[in-house]
Amino acid sequence: MPAQPSSEPTTLIRGGTVVNAEGFVRADVLVRGERVIGIGVDHDWDADTVIDATDKYVMPGGIDVHTHLEYPIDGFTTRTADDFATGSVAAAFGGTTMFIDFVKKRPDASLYETFVDRRKVAEEKSIVDFSLHAIVPPLAQQADVHEDLERLYEEQGVTSWKFFMAYPGTQMVEDNELLAGMDLAKRLGALPMVHAENGHMINRASSQLLESGKTAEIHHVDAHGHSSEAEAVHRAIVLAEEVGTPLYVVHVSSEQAAVEIARARSEGIEVWGETCPQYLLTALEDYEGLGDRAAGYICSPPIRERANQAGLWKYLAADGLSTLATDHAAFCMEQPDDLPPQKLRSPGYFPKTPNGVPGLEDRLKVVWEAGVVEGRMDICRFVELVATRPAKLFGLYPRKGTVSVGADADIVVWDPNSDHTITAAESHSRTDYNLYEGMHVTGLPVTVLSRGKVLIHDRQLQEAATTTRGQYHCRENAQLY
Ligand SMILES: [Zn+2]
Repeated sequence: MPAQPSSEPTTLIRGGTVVNAEGFVRADVLVRGERVIGIGVDHDWDADTVIDATDKYVMPGGIDVHTHLEYPIDGFTTRTADDFATGSVAAAFGGTTMFIDFVKKRPDASLYETFVDRRKVAEEKSIVDFSLHAIVPPLAQQADVHEDLERLYEEQGVTSWKFFMAYPGTQMVEDNELLAGMDLAKRLGALPMVHAENGHMINRASSQLLESGKTAEIHHVDAHGHSSEAEAVHRAIVLAEEVGTPLYVVHVSSEQAAVEIARARSEGIEVWGETCPQYLLTALEDYEGLGDRAAGYICSPPIRERANQAGLWKYLAADGLSTLATDHAAFCMEQPDDLPPQKLRSPGYFPKTPNGVPGLEDRLKVVWEAGVVEGRMDICRFVELVATRPAKLFGLYPRKGTVSVGADADIVVWDPNSDHTITAAESHSRTDYNLYEGMHVTGLPVTVLSRGKVLIHDRQLQEAATTTRGQYHCRENAQLY
């Protein structure tokens, strides 16, 4: 197909290997305006811009369906360090061209009002496309929240809603509320998501630890046992099956929890599990000797023993776990003047340590290294985990998550021969530390396009990144196959 005359700029990505979840092929990719309009080798395409992708992979941009940018936590007493500007720049540098963040109802506003405000802030700042999941508060915080969920679904394409099974008294919903929310999700076709940890078990364990003087950072992991995660995952699956709705389990950290999901999937139950790089690549052994600074590793569910990693990799390879997201909730170790209290706000007292770790910029690099380079998965499975399956489950496919004619030109040119040592100093997140500090990786995103605009080239931020803004995406219902 020759390029049609048009005033829209064209870009030809030449000489690379196009990798999709279904397979890979040596082909050139022609972009006009915001979309891919041609993929092939036998052509006479000309373009305004030519990008040489010889010996490189041409892949769909990464989609991170679990981020927390400028996100309020702990009763709105603090927030994550990255805003939508710094977070989206970090995403682009890491080859991620779309993220889905969350809306948590403000105490002084409805869920719907909070959503509208947050969407606007992100539209003003993000350099890549984005969408938002709704967090469903307990009914005690907003009795008519189901009306807002339905309105958000209809008006804003919010087709995924997250329920917390942890944090009693603030965010946790009881089983009756979870069931009612799932009923509504089933009626509309929305996808319920769960943070699956048993909040009562965690509170009980925390109280016992604190009573016996075990207040240090390292005891956070003891409060969040494998069984509290596995129990909640099991229960969520049973409830979803009872209702007859698909289910998405965010940030699976424990092999015991992954077993529950894999077993259900083998029985034909539509449950999908997400895990995160920090659970695959870092371990309790990395932070148990760090004292207060173990705070940098604290997230929930926690980063567990190294022996737990192999099980997660096993289920990831065999599709017991189906997506890789970051749960990027970056905080600083040193306190900046312009941010509320960060990681070290309560040294020696784990219940007040802000939960969350960074990873948005590193996700593709570290999973490529440990997954593809080390032989745990092939390049197609990599693309499926970081882009295609997330796009399908969150109603973005085939507009995103694939390099195909008609799709958005969200494209990463990946150089499997470039190498790099990860450091916080060279990263673009506002956080000042990195879980993968010193990790040597081979394989990097060298050029990144967002809807046809080159944001990153030769690993440098381009002019387009300063003048364009990402779009909010209304989403379709999940595609479950
Ligand atoms: Zn999260």
